[in-house]
Amino acid sequence: MTSLPPMEVPRRLERLTAVLEEAGLDALVVSHLPNVRYLTGFTGSAGMLLVHAGGSVLVTDGRYRDQAGEQVAASGAVVDVAIGATAADQREILAASASGAARVGLEDHVVTWAEQRALSERLAPAELVAAGALVEDLRRSKDPGEVARIRLACSIADAALDAVRSRLASSPTESEFALGLEVEMRTRGASGVSFDAIVASGPNAAMPHARPTDRRIERGELVVIDFGCIVDGYCSDMTRTLSVGDPGPDARRLFETVMTANAAGREAVTVGVECRAVDAAARAVVDAEGLGDAFVHGTGHGVGVEIHEAPRLAATSRDTLIEGDVVTVEPGVYVTGVGGVRIEDTVVVTASGAEPLTCSPKDLLL
Ligand code: ZN
Ligand code: ZN
Repeated sequence: MTSLPPMEVPRRLERLTAVLEEAGLDALVVSHLPNVRYLTGFTGSAGMLLVHAGGSVLVTDGRYRDQAGEQVAASGAVVDVAIGATAADQREILAASASGAARVGLEDHVVTWAEQRALSERLAPAELVAAGALVEDLRRSKDPGEVARIRLACSIADAALDAVRSRLASSPTESEFALGLEVEMRTRGASGVSFDAIVASGPNAAMPHARPTDRRIERGELVVIDFGCIVDGYCSDMTRTLSVGDPGPDARRLFETVMTANAAGREAVTVGVECRAVDAAARAVVDAEGLGDAFVHGTGHGVGVEIHEAPRLAATSRDTLIEGDVVTVEPGVYVTGVGGVRIEDTVVVTASGAEPLTCSPKDLLL
């Protein structure tokens, strides 16, 4: 891991401060922990960050007294660290730091009603404003250090699948195969999985988000394998569909359709393209085969410090791709009685198109 290039953490707070000014906010309370980590390097399980042009402060509890200071210092972020024993103490510290701010933004998509009321009382007379996903929007454009972490997570996942794929021939259970993938990823340096792997065989493959079971994987069955890992806080995400031996003409047709849709989606990805146009490009292929009703999810999503983040690549998305977006392209079809196929790549959006970060072969047959 020592060869990973540094990330530009201090610049993130600078950019956010400029965004707040544009939005007419004097301060922002960042409650969503992945956003706190993104802005400060702090990885604890509790804490809030007040971002304020006059000085930002990370408030957490005594469990993180040493860790918070060390991680913030290591990130280079210009943030004070304060410890409050209780939630009320922590709100007190936030309020003191926000004194003079007239309009304070909250991350309304994550703050609970109870927390909003408590903050409103404590921060009065400041007006609390629903600020939306300001930090999530900032997170979209990844710097080279971030892309390097996602790239490494993707290559670890590639290597893990390569190491275990032949085991499918010896009829493991779905759970055994999933565990094998996890062990291989962690052995290669991942800190954990980015989500619980999906290994769905035979009839289970018709369920897009099936959990691995004790079912044994047999010859001639479609097996959907969707998995990823975490490297230094950044996720990978990839799906391959495999079969031990010929799964038959119906399954092969599903597979060929999704392969073409995956390629069409990736080809549509470039800077300035509407996310819904990428979805439309993949979906057109599936529709043309009369399988539109079997493609029951969006074409993709952003990947970064969270496994699902902005932007969404779906028919209802209003986002446009920007340089540095890291997104998945993952068309799938699911037919009860036949099974399912999903083929997912993670790509980084560049001015010249989509650069793939997941590189495992896509062949159907083991
Ligand atoms: Zn996935
Ligand atoms: Zn995905």
